[in-house]
Amino acid sequence: MGAIKDIVDLAKDLESRAKDRHDMDTIHKIQSLAFSLQSQYVDAMERDVRLVEENADLKRQLAQANAEEIRFHSGLQFHRSKRTGGEWMACCPKCNGPALLDPAVNEYAVCTSCNWVSLVRVGSVSAAIACLKEQNS
Ligand SMILES: [Zn+2]
Repeated sequence: MGAIKDIVDLAKDLESRAKDRHDMDTIHKIQSLAFSLQSQYVDAMERDVRLVEENADLKRQLAQANAEEIRFHSGLQFHRSKRTGGEWMACCPKCNGPALLDPAVNEYAVCTSCNWVSLVRVGSVSAAIACLKEQNS
């Protein structure tokens, strides 16, 4: 805001040296524009403060939405978050990709992203999830 104050000060200086009514009118227009600019600046600063606060709130909400619980059990990694519907989901310990649990495809849990094959039989995964649920209760 220093520039606007400088303009106002210069206008006051000019006012003291004004020669006629036309000079005074011009000086008053300059002062009026400076005050208008100052008001717009204050509005912009208030808007910036609100946007910074909104941004911080949105970042906090995003962090909460992306928060994920991760546990290791039976050689698999299990994730639970809003993305998994709040349920434990078997994932690959190498790349965090979701594990395929289809005995028709593979007897063992397989990563759908990197094709990592676990040493855990598909039928044992539900027991591991039940164990995790029991630990949380
Ligand atoms: Zn993987």
